[in-house]
Amino acid sequence: MFRQVNKLATLNRLPTCSQNLYFYRNYSTGCGKVSGIFNFEEKSVSPSSTLPDLNINNININNSNSLNNTINDNKKNILSLSKDDLIKECQELHMTPFNANQIWNWVYNKNKMSIDSFSNISLEKRNALKEKFYIDFGTISKDSLSVDGTRKFLLEFKGGDKVECVFIPEANRGTLCVSSQVGCTFSCSFCHTGTQKLVRNLTSDEIVAQVLATRMILGDTQPNKKRLLTHIVFMGQGEPLYNYRNVSKAIQKLTDGNGISLGKSKITLSTSGVVPLIDKLSKDHPGVGLAISLHASNDKTRDELVPCNKQWNIEELMNSCIQYSKTNRDRITIEYVMLKDVNDSIEDAYKLAQLIKPFPSFVNLIPFNQWPGTKYVCSSNNAIHRFSDVLQKQGIKVTIRQPRGRDILAACGTLKSDSVKKPKTVPPPL
Ligand code: SF4
Repeated sequence: MFRQVNKLATLNRLPTCSQNLYFYRNYSTGCGKVSGIFNFEEKSVSPSSTLPDLNINNININNSNSLNNTINDNKKNILSLSKDDLIKECQELHMTPFNANQIWNWVYNKNKMSIDSFSNISLEKRNALKEKFYIDFGTISKDSLSVDGTRKFLLEFKGGDKVECVFIPEANRGTLCVSSQVGCTFSCSFCHTGTQKLVRNLTSDEIVAQVLATRMILGDTQPNKKRLLTHIVFMGQGEPLYNYRNVSKAIQKLTDGNGISLGKSKITLSTSGVVPLIDKLSKDHPGVGLAISLHASNDKTRDELVPCNKQWNIEELMNSCIQYSKTNRDRITIEYVMLKDVNDSIEDAYKLAQLIKPFPSFVNLIPFNQWPGTKYVCSSNNAIHRFSDVLQKQGIKVTIRQPRGRDILAACGTLKSDSVKKPKTVPPPL
């Protein structure tokens, strides 16, 4: 199969950035699109027959998962610091907590990548900061623009691992779909990302860097102007609750009023159903939206589509949604990908309605986005509308998601990067 996809044009360095953010610009159109031919290999991908490693003790909640953020021997990326850490580091440099707040504001509110631009901090203090720190938003190594305005960025971090994030502009809002892991352990059979083995968890700074880098490349860096990027969804590569500690820290940074300052209701976390952590999320971050990748109305079908269902089945998942809704007023989003002859029957629609009636929800029906090698086919328009009608007659609120960015493989469930886990190096025998 042949598809038209974007190819890289000329590498440019952002003129205002002193460090590490690069982007590609298309000189022919001004914003990034050069057509080329890409040959996708025809390959059938069968659903995972084995469960991923879903031992709850392996989930990164409290264990340290620090990335070596030093660009040279002893400097740290400011993004890797929590606000408390930054205050402590500033104190060591004989700077005040007020200075730490100024730095935080320069980086997260004004999106500055250069310590030299911190103009309300004395030259002497800036020089001291530069001795210890740098600012790194990662490297945008590919920028693809869809015909519908959706824009996909391939962001590369120190060490070479890459993830994709997608900016979806709409009339009154701009949503960034961020990744939480490089690859994914969950192997959901309808999901392109699921064909990429987990490489590693992203650190909290790498999650936040997706927002800062996107704002930089969109020119969305003026705190006094209406922001282009207004909403965040954790629906990119990876299962966010399987990288809980870093996702939680990232949410803290995204919502900090002196920085990026996003309201919690502007953030939605989507999970395939890591039941034990749904409750923790609601306690740690009340007000953050929850989306459940349900995709089936019975365990047999869901075991195939979302293999973690074998660990936490539909009944357990629905019970956790009921618990969640006792402490959160917002409706839970139920995501349901429409797959021809798999989960799109009228009977499925009735069963789905019964499952979700006990808690406030709305259903997002997602027309399946085809990716190379998948065995699934999108349900027909008729089938999708018939399914929607049944739900609505049962009193369920439904939307049918408009596919965005299909032509650049940026649509829901199609993200993937080419990063692979590096083999551990074994020291040579003496
Ligand atoms: S749907 Fe989410 S959890 Fe499942 S394979 Fe894709 S990225 Fe991973």
